[in-house]
Order: sequence, then C-alpha cells, then structure tokens
Amino acid sequence: MISYLQVVIQALLLQQSHNIASGHVEQRTMNLNRVPAKEVRKMSPGYRGCPSTLKKRKQLFNAEERVERKAGIGRRQQKESGKNHKIVRVEEDQVHIPKHMIGFGVPNEPRLKVQRKLPEAAIGPPYFYFENVACAPKGVWSTISRSLYEVEPEFVDSLHFCPAARKRGYVHNLPICDRFPLKPIPPLTIQAALPLTKKWWPSWDRRDKFTCLRTRIGSAKLTERIKEALERCNGDPPLETQKYVLYQCKKWNLVWTGKNKATPLEPDEQEMLMGYPQNHTRGASRTERYKTLGNSFQVDTVAYHFSVLKRMFPNGITVLSLFTGIGGAEIALHRLGIPLKAVVSVEVSEVSRSIFRSWWEQTNQTGDLIELEDVQLLSEDKLKIYISSFGGFDLVVGGSPCNNLTGSNFHHRNGLKGEHSVLFFEFDRILDTVKCMMASNL
Ligand code: SAH
Repeated sequence: MISYLQVVIQALLLQQSHNIASGHVEQRTMNLNRVPAKEVRKMSPGYRGCPSTLKKRKQLFNAEERVERKAGIGRRQQKESGKNHKIVRVEEDQVHIPKHMIGFGVPNEPRLKVQRKLPEAAIGPPYFYFENVACAPKGVWSTISRSLYEVEPEFVDSLHFCPAARKRGYVHNLPICDRFPLKPIPPLTIQAALPLTKKWWPSWDRRDKFTCLRTRIGSAKLTERIKEALERCNGDPPLETQKYVLYQCKKWNLVWTGKNKATPLEPDEQEMLMGYPQNHTRGASRTERYKTLGNSFQVDTVAYHFSVLKRMFPNGITVLSLFTGIGGAEIALHRLGIPLKAVVSVEVSEVSRSIFRSWWEQTNQTGDLIELEDVQLLSEDKLKIYISSFGGFDLVVGGSPCNNLTGSNFHHRNGLKGEHSVLFFEFDRILDTVKCMMASNL
C-alpha cells in the first residue's frame, strides 16, 4: 500500500533524477557513487560541515593503518619478522575486547555500569546504533569507535539472552539505564529450547549453549560419518571419538535427533534461537534462510538495548535502517511495542527485502516503508528529502557486512578495507550527513 507521503517522496526523487539526467547534478551524483565517503563530504557543494563533524574529522585517525604501518605492513612481513610483530602487539588496538561480554550490563548479571559519559560530539539527534562482530582484526574497533564520535563499543555475547553465543560489538549513543528485556524471556539453554533432543543427547556431550550460528550448515555426509564412527563403538565411545564428534558438533551446531544421529539445526529452529517469529524466513531457499539468519541481529539482545526508547517514543519512531537484512532492528522495536512511524530501509539483497516486506505486511504496520537497495547510492539529496518529509530520523541503525572481519574467513579477512566490510564507512558517511542536516535543520 502506497501512502500519500510515499507518493510525494517518489515525485521529489523523480524530479531529482530528472535533474541528474539533464546534467544539473550529474557530477555530484557520480562522485557520490565512486569516491570514498570522507572525500564526498569534502567535495560535495551542498555540504557545509558541522562543528561536531569537523572536530571529529580532525580527531579521526585510522587505527588500522597505524597498526599496519607499525607492523611494517602486511601479514607476510609480520610473519617474516617476529620481532616487529611483538612490538606491534604491545602498542596496537586501544579498544579492549573483554573475554566475558556483558557490555554495560545484561539481565540477571550484576550491572557493571549504569551511567556513561558520551563524548560531546555523539550527543544529540539522531540516536544511532551500529553492530558488528566483536572478534575483528586488530585496529578495526578503534577505527569504528573513532569514526563514530569516539563512542566506546559495548561488547555483548548473546548467550546471555538466548541459547546461542554471538559475540558482537555495538557502538551507540542510547541511554543505558533502566533497560529491560523482552517478554517472554526465551529459553536460555539448548535443552530448554529443544526439549525433543533430550531423548537422544549422549551424556558425554555436555553442551548447554550453541556456538555462534553460522551462515552455512554441516553436510549430510558429516551426519553420516558421525553415525558410522559411533556405531563402531560398544557403549560410550572412546575419548578420541568423543573429541572428534564434539568438535564437529560445536563447529556446526549439531543436535541429537536420533540414535547416534547429530544433525544441523532446521531454519525454523534458528529463527527461534535468533528471536524471530516462526516462519519469518520461510519462502526463501534453505541456503538463503541460513545465510540471512546467520547474518542477522539476535532480536532479544538488540531489544534490550532499544528498550530505553520505549519511554522516549510512545507515539512511534522514525528509523533509517541501513543494511536492514531480515529486519532484526525493526522486529525488536515492534516487539517492544514502539510503533514504526516510518522506516527508510536500505538492503541490497532482494531475498532479504522480500522477507522484511512480508513481515511488514503480516504485522499490519501502518507506518511508511521506503525501500532502497544500495547504501552507496543514498545521496545527500535523497537524505535531505527524507529528512524534510519525515521531520528527521529518530534512530539510524545498521550492522554492516562482516565478511572481511570474521575469524572464519581466512582468505579475505582484511579488515575494514575488505570489499564488503568497507561499507562501514557508508554507515559513517550517512550518519554524519543526517546528524549535520538535523543539527542545522536542513
Ligand atoms: N542486521 C541485519 C543484517 C545485517 S548483515 C539483520 O538483522 O538481518 C549485512 C547486510 O548488508 C546484508 O543483509 C547484506 O545483504 C547487506 N548489504 C551488503 N551490501 C549492501 C549495500 N551495498 N547496500 C545495502 N545493503 C547491503
């Protein structure tokens, strides 16, 4: 259903593309698509800069580059020179990544911190919330934090909210006191979440939490191999076999669904563990369901952080959702009972857009949904139009692709310079632009 507001916005955007076609703003639009974000801001004729951004830009220091420079550049060289490598380890990243990730507090844990002092530049609308994998290469979190107004990341493991680990860093300027969890509290152990597996669960498999749910699952061949290995034993398998089986079970999050039968989780089980409604991703292929769920927010975790918004936006919230995926952020807000007045959603995957759109329709949302595809094409002109139509954004949220940051991707784990993860700088660019426009009332 297209609302009047959407028609107006479409008309304004059409006018804008007409201008582009007729050469009025061609140069600028081309630049926006091709040059790094920081350069765009400098070049863009309409960009006036705002004090907070300028100050921030001065402070901005690419920690990743600094680490590399100190290392004498590149992994190979680091390997070749053990000495250099050691020196770097002492001086590198200033962001401390804790072992036990409870952030500024999680439900049922003694609260570590109920107050924090945000850097001046981070204060003021809009609220922002950025997410990515905690265990990123050295320097990544320093760069992210410095880019996002020097806000200290909050590292949280979702196993405090559900039966699966998910170590993530969140950089946000939300208040942190009086948070509350979504109700009902989901089961916190594998056994409580999947009671039917109890019957087949061997006593020597002591897991009660899953490791981080991934974008791919273990193969049918693996299930077969495990079965064969166990069936060769009489009674409890020898330690070596147990070790092998447990290693595979932990790696692929296998569950016991028959005698000696360790199988991957079903997509609907992953939906439940990640806090999504049943059948949320149904209709997409199995491969896509695992992929989108493996990349998504854990809803209960994010909702805990967003819960402070409930008292601030009783009449609804306007969201700029970058890298929307299957809508983890929107589902969290909806489940908290915060009406979605308008969502401008930017997501490049057709499959994810379709999953998110179905959820929007099924939950009878009455707000406006604007769907865009590529964050790199979200220009200042478009942002200006959305900001004036909606009266600004209350929340800018997003978790940019982690493909080049995760531990499992050895080939392309090249940090924020990686082909996909570099899109973090689009989050930074867009947030900066929105913040400046809102500060200067356009
Ligand atoms: N937080 C989301 C998932 C984020 S994963 C959720 O809850 O589901 C990163 C997402 O960025 C993926 O869905 C990927 O398709 C999307 N993406 C990758 N490149 C993009 C681009 N250029 N513009 C917009 N989205 C992009």
